[in-house]
Amino acid sequence: MRSKIVVANWKMNKDLHEGLQLAARVIQMLGNRANRSAQVILLPPFIHLDAIRKLLPKSGSLHVGAQDCHVHAYGAFTGEVSAPMLRSVGATFVLIGHSERRQHLGEHSALLTQKVTTALLHGLRPIFCCGESQQVRTAGHQESFVQKQLAAGLFHLSAGQIAQVIIAYEPIWAIGTGSTPIPTQVQAMHYAIRSTIASRYGEEVSQNIPILYGGSCNAENALCFFVCPDVDGGLIGKASLEAVSFVSIVDALE
Ligand code: PEP
Repeated sequence: MRSKIVVANWKMNKDLHEGLQLAARVIQMLGNRANRSAQVILLPPFIHLDAIRKLLPKSGSLHVGAQDCHVHAYGAFTGEVSAPMLRSVGATFVLIGHSERRQHLGEHSALLTQKVTTALLHGLRPIFCCGESQQVRTAGHQESFVQKQLAAGLFHLSAGQIAQVIIAYEPIWAIGTGSTPIPTQVQAMHYAIRSTIASRYGEEVSQNIPILYGGSCNAENALCFFVCPDVDGGLIGKASLEAVSFVSIVDALE
């Protein structure tokens, strides 16, 4: 059975004090629920990782990860943070290919392909983001666009490696805008993503890969996405910055 997963992408929000408060509240609220089935991954800014990881219960369904990692493991790359550094502070996941980094920081497919490899080599599970612009959707080319992103970013991996990957479908036009696709559009894209993985790696591998929806997902609308058969959870931006709304989203998945 596929894992159910909710990821909190805090982006460049919360100073250390605020971040620790938010994490502590989320941990406390989730800790009060028995039989939790969803995995919850917090992606705070780099500088919070060590302190937040220390707040987490030793074992269980709560994890920390990073919002990015450098393509190289070490070296003269001023200001950058590498996968082994992230592992050393307890991160076990890393977001790769978020559209904000593709758009504003010029991260292109060839770089993302290498980042995925670097992350896996150093023990981080990639959360690989894909998704189309409004222009691509208006033209009706969203599925072929996303299929190309997947092929470029992931198809160099072995079947064993891709089994470690989580895919997040995030239409760019839905991120931070309050607009979302309707659930049937989300299901259609998730089905297309799973079929694309199946065409390269076979049915069994594709059935085990978690595919998350992201883009203005919140406490009010999460359930209508989570009931779609190929949606295994969510990647949450704005609504992850407040504990009650974030935990409501986790509840909607369980
Ligand atoms: C995101 O940036 O990954 C995201 C999903 O943001 P929001 O939930 O704010 O749309």
